[in-house]
Amino acid sequence: MKTLDRLKKSIRWRYRLIPVPFSYGREFRSKFRFVRRSLAFTDEQLYEYTWNRLTALINFTYHNTVYYRQLFDELDCRPEDIKTPADYLRLPTTNRLIVRENLERMKPRNFGNTRPIKTVTSGTTGLPLKLYRSQSHEALRKAIVWRHYNACGYFFKEPRATLGRPLDFPQKHQYTHEDLLENNLWLNSYHLNPHDFMHIYGALADRRPKMLVGHPSAIYTFCLQSERAGVKAIPIPIVYSYSEKLYPHHLKKFQEYFGARIFDYYGNRENTLAVTQLNCGNYHINPEFGYVEFVTGSRHSNVGETGSIISTPLENYSVPLLRYDTGDLGKPLGKCPICQIPHPTMEILGGRGKDILVTRDGFVNCHLDTFLARNGFVGADYIQVVQREMDRIIVRIFPNLNYVRERDEEHLRRLAKDCLSGYFEVDIEQLDKPPFTEAGKMPYVISELAGYGPNQHTSQL
Ligand SMILES: [Zn+2]
Repeated sequence: MKTLDRLKKSIRWRYRLIPVPFSYGREFRSKFRFVRRSLAFTDEQLYEYTWNRLTALINFTYHNTVYYRQLFDELDCRPEDIKTPADYLRLPTTNRLIVRENLERMKPRNFGNTRPIKTVTSGTTGLPLKLYRSQSHEALRKAIVWRHYNACGYFFKEPRATLGRPLDFPQKHQYTHEDLLENNLWLNSYHLNPHDFMHIYGALADRRPKMLVGHPSAIYTFCLQSERAGVKAIPIPIVYSYSEKLYPHHLKKFQEYFGARIFDYYGNRENTLAVTQLNCGNYHINPEFGYVEFVTGSRHSNVGETGSIISTPLENYSVPLLRYDTGDLGKPLGKCPICQIPHPTMEILGGRGKDILVTRDGFVNCHLDTFLARNGFVGADYIQVVQREMDRIIVRIFPNLNYVRERDEEHLRRLAKDCLSGYFEVDIEQLDKPPFTEAGKMPYVISELAGYGPNQHTSQL
């Protein structure tokens, strides 16, 4: 037994000692070197680089995919005709509904050689979408994220904690999970309910990370539960938020509670763009990763004007996407007046939701979609949770062929109750059609009680 313990201890130490860039592989190291170098590019160099990568991708799609060959032919256009951003604007956009229907035709003929990694985005903001990203694209994504971490003052192997979704854990009900290689402690946001909160609080307080990563709604819930429980605040130098809109009341709370500097990352699950908030407070587009356009009507938006955010991931040759409509709105803001880097800045206006429900004890994060998937419920193509009163929620589903109401409705109700710690009576509502926006998105959680302003939140406590 003692030998086994010693062995385990030695393996743990080995993991701790392996440098992160080494474990990520050669492709990551070369891309990480590149993205540090490209920070010093001039505007012209950066434009030339991204335009070359974009042209290469356009050519590739035309010569290797059935979908884009047909699209170009129907437009009577050839890749060589696209010489300027205005030419590129004339190509139609794509979105998650189009990808869902045409995935096979969008795959290139040498698909296997692109080293594809499968991703399934969950049904939280629309129908589940199956996609592939190449290993090279993934290495670049990691390089961009680490360049951003470094800019925030966080470096390899420093202690980090992440408030993750149940999906991120080997077993969904686990409180914590340790990633020794990254020196990252995963905390399960499923347990941010008043009953289990102290397990998560204790783990974070013991950890004292340099950086806390998470969805702003989860981090916000953490702060509120902590205040409600009357336990003292945990000082953490850096809070890193991603995946949802970061609201002013989040910022205020994170500054007060953790004494932290806050940095935000804006991307999407389809990995078509990466936008990072730097020390200046502005959101910088990372053009090495995705070519971003803002479109108002049928033209590119002016600086300061609201437009749809359309992006083209430059390195994903597994399922190349040209002009992907993210479903979000934003404004191009041009050059940063503070930073000496060529990356343009932007403002994000919305589209990204949050997933908080209000209970008599405080707040819970809603993970019903992943919870149902984990428990084998496959009867709905999409799910929406609506809260109009304190102790009651409506679970709206758009059923598919697997759904038999007499058999499944009660099961669904029980799962929803269990997932939300028994806080709510659950009504099930069946929809005839999904109420999507044009880009195929829909809000996953609508809580009329959660509101958006800090005043509404405090009045609930
Ligand atoms: Zn800046």
